[in-house]
Amino acid sequence: MRVFSGIQPTGTIHIGNYLGAIKQWVELQEKNECIFCIVDLHALTVPYKPKELENSVLEKAIVYLASGVDPGKSIIFIQSQVKEHTELTWLLNTVTPVGELTRMTQFKEKSKKFRQNINAGLLNYPILMAADILLYQTDVVPVGEDQKQHVELTRTIARKFNQKFGETFKVPEVKVPKSGAKIMSLQNPAKKMSKTDGPDTYIGLFDEPEEIKQKIMRSVTDTGKIIKYNPEKKAGISNLLTIYSLFSGKNIKELERKFKGKGYAEFKKSLAELLINSLEPFRRKRKELLSREVYVKEILEQGRKRAEIIAQSTIGEIRKKMGLSI
Ligand code: ATP
Ligand code: MG
Repeated sequence: MRVFSGIQPTGTIHIGNYLGAIKQWVELQEKNECIFCIVDLHALTVPYKPKELENSVLEKAIVYLASGVDPGKSIIFIQSQVKEHTELTWLLNTVTPVGELTRMTQFKEKSKKFRQNINAGLLNYPILMAADILLYQTDVVPVGEDQKQHVELTRTIARKFNQKFGETFKVPEVKVPKSGAKIMSLQNPAKKMSKTDGPDTYIGLFDEPEEIKQKIMRSVTDTGKIIKYNPEKKAGISNLLTIYSLFSGKNIKELERKFKGKGYAEFKKSLAELLINSLEPFRRKRKELLSREVYVKEILEQGRKRAEIIAQSTIGEIRKKMGLSI
């Protein structure tokens, strides 16, 4: 099977990105042909500093490598370096209904978050994402819950195209993890954890032990005392239990028993310790990779070459189907 997924070079990669997306990638790369992209063109849809973007792209490549994506098994590349992504985006624009775009949850949320900058790119974001996925004739797209809607739209676009121009695209399946598909913000457990919210709302994959401790201890929970999983009534504690469960490999019931009769402070302390230990290898590998910039750039260059071969072959076929191959 061919697998495709990506992360935007915005903000700081957090444990939600890891549990929702990257962890699945690392497992999938063992038996599949995987393509993982750093989607810098998507990052242009929200306010950013051009000078900082390039560093952020390299940092994300380091995140991929430090969290176990193996360049010997998977293609890792930068979206903007393969021009077929933008070309296909335009072509798919012509088969995408505007009504579908305006009803997307992410568009609505980001329009609220960035009121001063509701650009057409923010609206058309899912078309670029469809181009990313369809360009590689992808079978499976491993993402977090919040991106499910966009993959569904990708399926709609693929079907519309196939109907209009003849069988061209594979219609991809979405894959979200059973647990961890939507890790919530530490400061507002009704909202998903996001890279572009403040640092107090997430645990960064490379956060230092002291930061992890402070953020977990300060995380918002209810006024009760019992450590019980109940996402409706105890969203904060339930989110922390999910995180605890995924990093410890223990199920929630086991954890409820372990912390029976113990207070929130003790539970949080134990979670902070678990996270500090679990994330230590990530911090260590990152430090090592930071001093090997040439190596990281070489991986991205190899990735670009391999991605380009597939992308060019798909675009050639599409041009023919659409009457653009004169
Ligand atoms: P931004 O605020 O810039 O949109 P983000 O945290 O949503 O940042 P993305 O780059 O948009 O990160 O998404 C990367 C991947 O991480 C996607 O597969 C997405 O579904 C997943 N993801 C994002 N947030 C979460 C979360 N809170 N829980 C689980 N998965 C998540
Ligand atoms: Mg996002």
